[in-house]
Amino acid sequence: MKGTVLYGPRDVRFEERPDPTIIEPTDAIIRLSAACVCGSDLWSYRGIDKVTKPMAMGHEYAGIVEEVGSAVRNIKPGQFVVGSFFASDNTCEICQAGYHSSCIHRQPGAPTGAQAQYARIPLADGTLVATPDLPSDDLIPSLLSASDVLGTGWFGAVAAAVSPGKTVAVVGDGAVGLLGVLSAKQMGAERIIAMSRHEDRQKLALEFGATDIVTERGDDGAAKIKELTNGFGAHSVIEAVGTQEALMQAIRSTRPGGHVGFTGVFHDVAIPGEEFFFSHVHLHGGPAPVRRFLPELIDLIWNRKIKPGKVFDLTLPLEQVAEGYRAMDERRAIKALLRP
Ligand SMILES: [Zn+2]
Repeated sequence: MKGTVLYGPRDVRFEERPDPTIIEPTDAIIRLSAACVCGSDLWSYRGIDKVTKPMAMGHEYAGIVEEVGSAVRNIKPGQFVVGSFFASDNTCEICQAGYHSSCIHRQPGAPTGAQAQYARIPLADGTLVATPDLPSDDLIPSLLSASDVLGTGWFGAVAAAVSPGKTVAVVGDGAVGLLGVLSAKQMGAERIIAMSRHEDRQKLALEFGATDIVTERGDDGAAKIKELTNGFGAHSVIEAVGTQEALMQAIRSTRPGGHVGFTGVFHDVAIPGEEFFFSHVHLHGGPAPVRRFLPELIDLIWNRKIKPGKVFDLTLPLEQVAEGYRAMDERRAIKALLRP
């Protein structure tokens, strides 16, 4: 088969790879119906996360089950399935509590890489969720988004304790931030303030349910949120970037007693203890336990109540994956969809 390998900064190659095979009896092999480039892939692409050896890329996936191992009971060949970037058993105490991405048997969700024609998925019964039937083609981008960016934005909203009537601010206008807006809307937030300086992203945020746009960043952004909320700050803030500036912007935009849900992978972030102590802000987040939300998200997509696939504003054939990375790196695209 062919798949995507990152050799070093900005060196993405689509090349011949070994066909994935069943290694553990709990594995499944899927044929990707679509793949995509994640904002988090850019950390390695840009050389911020060091690449020491060639890396099979892609951790978001949806597709048709080709084959399952002898111990797989629930997932069957021919099903359309969605999984997430961590494989989990869905049975241990941590999974039962909803934190699948910290499952005691946690493994990479697609160790052979999912920007490829085929992928091996460990712990298939725990990791994969099948759709009620084969989806129509127009649902595939949305189902794929559930695998990471929607599940992550949704977790951001859950971690930020979004609920009906609340004011929510979203830091970050990438796919996760935009889907954080969609999630907050779905959870009944009354006011949703999207923080973005890019017109195309503002437009999508408004379409997903944002009521206000704030273009200021950092402390100016936080001051603007305070100004819009009678000096209190937002009840809930979703942080979808992962930098020091973004996290501080989130904490400083939140009212005392409010919640920050952080979803951007932290890079060189240090939380100043004294300021945090006196902020009275709840802080929760981490790698999203996407598996917890998949049944609900698939249901919402299947019944056409949400259309998160709109975050894909560039579609390319899978073999042009390198152009997908370039377009996202240069912020020409919010998120690139790759079709085999
Ligand atoms: Zn588990």
